[in-house]
Amino acid sequence: MSNWTTETKHNWTKEEILEIYNKPLMELLYEAATIHRKHHDPNTVQVSTLLSIKTGGCPEDCGYCPQAARYHTDIEGNDLMTVSHVKAQALRAKASGSSRVCMGAAWRNVKDGPEFDQVLEMVRTINKLDMEVCCTLGMLTENQAKRLAEAGLYAYNHNLDSSEEYYKEVISTRGYQDRLDTIANVRKTNVTVCSGGIIGMGEKLEDRAGMLVALSTLNPQPESVPINALVSVEGTPMENQEPVSIWEMLRMIATTRIVMPETQVRLSAGRTSMSQEGQAMCFFAGANSIFAGDKLLTTPNPDIQEDMKLFELLGLKPQKPFLKHVHPQTVEAEDSQFKPLGEKPKWTRPKHKIERNEQKKKERRLVKTK
Ligand code: SF4
Repeated sequence: MSNWTTETKHNWTKEEILEIYNKPLMELLYEAATIHRKHHDPNTVQVSTLLSIKTGGCPEDCGYCPQAARYHTDIEGNDLMTVSHVKAQALRAKASGSSRVCMGAAWRNVKDGPEFDQVLEMVRTINKLDMEVCCTLGMLTENQAKRLAEAGLYAYNHNLDSSEEYYKEVISTRGYQDRLDTIANVRKTNVTVCSGGIIGMGEKLEDRAGMLVALSTLNPQPESVPINALVSVEGTPMENQEPVSIWEMLRMIATTRIVMPETQVRLSAGRTSMSQEGQAMCFFAGANSIFAGDKLLTTPNPDIQEDMKLFELLGLKPQKPFLKHVHPQTVEAEDSQFKPLGEKPKWTRPKHKIERNEQKKKERRLVKTK
């Protein structure tokens, strides 16, 4: 048996994590639930609403993503939302029980300029509604992280997606180290880190364990770790991937809970194909956060009313905002200490090509021109 304790450990190895993942299921669930109860209220689940503030047209080639421009999927792109539109959506989310709004923009990286200024204004606006604000905007410099923090950002999401080895099979337009560098930039502020990944992309169990090594050996560990099951979308290079079974999801959630006891483990994409019983087991195994709303950026998700009915059935309560970390103060734009630097950091553009992604790009271009 692995020599783990319930205190946070930062030197997990792949072997130790695989040993946990492969335990007899009842033993795994019992251990995860025990750790979960020691660190969290098992009857409380944090609810976030994910808003796509700028959809589609992304220059990256993430093999799972319908927003990558090169795959010409059927999603409807849109320009950056207005601040008033975002505010209205946030108020609606709050009234339905969400404590956090997570704003996603399909960008490779943040660029200083009017669009980023608009996002900063969205952060200020939502923070003043007494909701936790999260952003996922791509790669970020230290100065940009500081500007977001000053506006009142609570969390920044930047997923590692998979193990470093398997990452090269999924994305060729940036490197794993870029992800880690952005997380390190966020860590130079008081903004909390949300970083997780996706299972069901064709990776081996070793890659799932490798991703958990990468996340759990960060010090501090991410405050939030989303675990997504791939939702395969027609037109993307992963359209034919087999769906993830509930048993794999349960094992992944339970293992994440054991290796990152303090973290909020987020049961993310893939919930629409899970039964209520399956989701209940995930909450028992240590998931204590969900995304609410009928869309997860572009893929389907249960409606928040359905989620609230499930909560009632299970006796779960939505978590109040700012329970785990302090409510950040908002500094107005005119009082900001940090000015745009117009930096042009050299994020990696690895030279390798992913055959499957290249192939899909060609096929889709042909379909589009016919
Ligand atoms: S996952 Fe994000 S970075 Fe990758 S293609 Fe989609 S929107 Fe772009």
